[in-house]
Amino acid sequence: MSDRLVLLGSKGGPALRSGGPWPSSSLLELGWRTIVVDCGLGVTRGLVDAGVSLKALDLIFVTHLHSDHVLELGALLHTAWTAGLANPVTLFGPPGTGHYWRRFCQAMEFDIEIRIVDEGRPDIREMASIVEFGEGEIFAQRGLKVSALRVDHPPVTDCFALRFDHAGKSIVFSADTAFFPPLAGFARNADILVHEAMLEEGIERLVARTGNGARLKEHLLASHSFAEQAGRIASDAGVKRLVLNHLIPADDAAIGEADWEAAVRKSWAGDLTIARDGLVVNLDGAKAASGEETA
Ligand SMILES: [Zn+2]
Ligand SMILES: [Zn+2]
Repeated sequence: MSDRLVLLGSKGGPALRSGGPWPSSSLLELGWRTIVVDCGLGVTRGLVDAGVSLKALDLIFVTHLHSDHVLELGALLHTAWTAGLANPVTLFGPPGTGHYWRRFCQAMEFDIEIRIVDEGRPDIREMASIVEFGEGEIFAQRGLKVSALRVDHPPVTDCFALRFDHAGKSIVFSADTAFFPPLAGFARNADILVHEAMLEEGIERLVARTGNGARLKEHLLASHSFAEQAGRIASDAGVKRLVLNHLIPADDAAIGEADWEAAVRKSWAGDLTIARDGLVVNLDGAKAASGEETA
């Protein structure tokens, strides 16, 4: 298994539109570990399409509890369980993750109890160990180190960027955040920075279409970053490649890759990937390669 990043769901926000991309989730295969970062709607299908056996699910990280990052978490674990999950999964998330998981299992109690009795399955409630984390180093095992940095995503206070280091390779996920200069130090010299991004000219049309006008716009401006700001963080951090992800808007026919590129090139001159669902970024040489569209 060569190290790779697969962007399973590349849009920001929970809405789905015909032909559009899926909400946030990513697969990171690093040092023989299968790592899932965020579990928005579509994560299970995305993993299977990326060639991952759900039985081999290993480590799951959730950056924060907004639904576009967590809505399919329970469904992913449950589907892996019915697929014959071989080993317990470790689920890392902010405070509240354990509550989510217990309540999910309660909601699915009928099905869980019946499958244990009828199909002889182990108890799913014992197959996920939950680690609620804060800032700092949150995992270190067999050369894989993971650390977290609280970012600026009001009104959510427990939202964390994540950094994965293994054998000299490093990948950083910004999570959802407004322009947050400390991210540059956190992402210092990383091979890949996956940073969320908005495009200014698309925001007005998005807000008009969603019909929640002023309040939605206020949230977007206070809690998210423009592409140019993502580029600034990447430049300050000296990363090798910037991946623009969690795109807002992601499904506006009038906006294409060239528009994102034009915005981010004001502040970033290095290697660049504009995320789309199923896109693979190889970590050996960190070259981007086209993947399959899953949506
Ligand atoms: Zn989000
Ligand atoms: Zn969010």
